Amino acid sequence: MENKSEDVVIIGTGCAGLTAAIYTARANLNPIVFTGTMPGGLLTTTSIVENFPGFPDGIDGYELMTKLQKQAERFGARVEFATVEAADLSKRPFVLTVDGERVVAKTIIISTGAGHRHLGLESEHLLDKKGVTYCATCDGALPMFRNQPLVVVGGGDSACEEAQYLTRFGSTVYLIHRRDSLRASKIMAERTLANPKIKPVWDSVVTEVLDVKQDKVTGVRIKNLKTNVEATLDCAGLFVAIGHTPNTQLFKGVLDMDENGFLKRTEGSHTNVPGVFVAGDCSDHVYRQAITAAGMGCAAAIDCERFLGAENS
Ligand code: NAP
Repeated sequence: MENKSEDVVIIGTGCAGLTAAIYTARANLNPIVFTGTMPGGLLTTTSIVENFPGFPDGIDGYELMTKLQKQAERFGARVEFATVEAADLSKRPFVLTVDGERVVAKTIIISTGAGHRHLGLESEHLLDKKGVTYCATCDGALPMFRNQPLVVVGGGDSACEEAQYLTRFGSTVYLIHRRDSLRASKIMAERTLANPKIKPVWDSVVTEVLDVKQDKVTGVRIKNLKTNVEATLDCAGLFVAIGHTPNTQLFKGVLDMDENGFLKRTEGSHTNVPGVFVAGDCSDHVYRQAITAAGMGCAAAIDCERFLGAENS
């Protein structure tokens, strides 16, 4: 028997997905939202969000996402802790496989966000969760990092934020960046470089994480890209903060994406498949802010509502 067709399925519950949920719920489209494995998205792992309009004193990332979900649910959005495993977008209605169950959808809003980029070293992979981490807020307070030298890799806002946060726990925080100036916003860069516990290591990359034999992080091998000089830096933790890759593997070969996997929009939030819309970090490699993701979620909801309205008129 054919399952009842959902009007709107939203994949992902970051700022984009939950804003799309608020708008489609208020448009009486009764959206169902699948969270994936990280309800609330990457923002739940951040500490204080200082640049989301409306919160002059900042707001905790987890709290912001919890409030967004409550707001969506207040208008009838159904938020389910489930993962979309497959998507057949070859004809409408679309068919999704969600935790093994078949879900039929007239329209889909993809807001699957992005995951942490890795350095790509074998030793990094082998020491993952044994001192290598991608989230200072999640792991920084672990006893293994207390009063120890720590390393952060990256030069963007994330790396600066992580480094500042880690000064609460580590003895010294080395910020290793492959160039000689930070990419981070001016305010973040200034704060970071003014912190006496943060020691920048310029023009350098991590070539190996030590020590796989001991099954824990004891240091990193670094190489200065200008001089080619290699050195070892003792540390108990390696925090990698070098950007993100979009969570779009599910749609490879079906939806148009750029060479890095970011979904392409045709007009507004439309994709190359009519009835499939995108919002947030999975399709944005330029702005990547909580507020721009929320704005894109709003736009996708409006596009989706108009698309369904045109079909029913
Ligand atoms: P990002 O801005 O893309 O920065 C990534 C950094 O990692 C860059 O400095 C880059 O170096 C470096 N990098 C990339 N690949 C590398 C590799 N393989 N090895 C070594 N270094 C590598 O990413 P992000 O810091 O995660 O920020 C993403 C977005 O979120 C940005 O728009 C940012 O403004 C926003 N954000 C905002 C806040 C805030 O406002 N509080 C906090 C976090 C993030 P290069 O500079 O040489 O390219």
